[in-house]
Amino acid sequence: MTPYDDTLAADRAAAGPLIDELGRTVTYLRLSVTDRCDLRCVYCMSEHMTFLPKVEVLTLEELDRVATAFIGLGTRKLRLTGGEPLVRKGMMDLVRGLSRHRDSGALDELTLTTNGTRLAEFAGELAAAGVRRINVSLDTLNPGRFRTLTRGGDLSKVLAGLDAAQAAGLAVKINTVALKDDNAAEIPDLIAWAHGRGCDLTLIETMPMGEVDVDRTADFVSLKDLRAHLESFWTLEDLPLSTGGPARYVRVAETGGRLGFITPLSHNFCEACNRVRLTCTGTLHTCLGQDDATDLRALLRAGASDAELTAAIRTAVLGKPRGHDFQIARARPAVARHMSTTGG
Ligand code: SAM
Ligand code: SF4
Repeated sequence: MTPYDDTLAADRAAAGPLIDELGRTVTYLRLSVTDRCDLRCVYCMSEHMTFLPKVEVLTLEELDRVATAFIGLGTRKLRLTGGEPLVRKGMMDLVRGLSRHRDSGALDELTLTTNGTRLAEFAGELAAAGVRRINVSLDTLNPGRFRTLTRGGDLSKVLAGLDAAQAAGLAVKINTVALKDDNAAEIPDLIAWAHGRGCDLTLIETMPMGEVDVDRTADFVSLKDLRAHLESFWTLEDLPLSTGGPARYVRVAETGGRLGFITPLSHNFCEACNRVRLTCTGTLHTCLGQDDATDLRALLRAGASDAELTAAIRTAVLGKPRGHDFQIARARPAVARHMSTTGG
């Protein structure tokens, strides 16, 4: 327990859940813990990224405080992301600290999204801290292609990380960005491989976020088309499963595994959106595809009380935009910030 855990629980009881003007209840926070990463995926970062000075990034204590504030306001699911969360110094201290909310029952799930390069080192500690499921991003099983797509990454580290995660008892979902010229032809093999080792796999369309040196338009592949291709040799059975998020799920009859489609560009999913994102600098974005932003770091560092912090969060959520407006054909990104800043 920290001194502010009690007051925040009291606030929640007094004022009800976090709700926006359209009646959507926000119960899911994605918290970016760093903008740094040990990879440079071509669709996510430019080759020579300038990372933020340390002073701009929330401290571990600030991350804990703001996450706790959200949990006090009814957040049931917390996903830690980045940048690469496992390169953040002290990351395990943060995870262990936040796991008190899972232990108390305030949080249903504490999870993270990782590129997997450091999982071999941390899988055991994550499992011991009560993490049960993780998402691992992986776009190819070809070492050379992996090196190209990540600008220098070593696939064997990710595969060792996956082994370690599963050996530690973590359920793993693979996230794969579909790229027409880079991995589209390999995707059926990737799905069969993931399902063969007991992992769900979710396909993601590239989103126009941040300048990245490459032309995303050229490499964009519509998941509608990819799905039609998969259906030419597999039976895809729609699953009712809804996470309040953008993914739609099917079961592949032939593999028995679950396959998700995240289609921000060819399908709009905003009416059921239950999530918000906090960048590693403490900026709250209530929509991934809009530029709305609330600076919670300024409040935290000005010595705001718990009541002031929760009031700012409530106000920001109230104004959550109706929906995003991504269009891959636009010359400029829909939002200037990179996915690694906002957290995927
Ligand atoms: N580094 C971690 C990882 O790669 O899983 C966590 C952060 S990363 C920004 C989160 C997710 O966003 C990854 O699955 C990545 O593939 C995805 N992503 C990054 N840039 C994207 C883009 N422009 N469009 C679609 N997905 C993107
Ligand atoms: Fe790093 Fe993840 Fe972005 Fe790849 S997608 S550059 S691993 S933050």
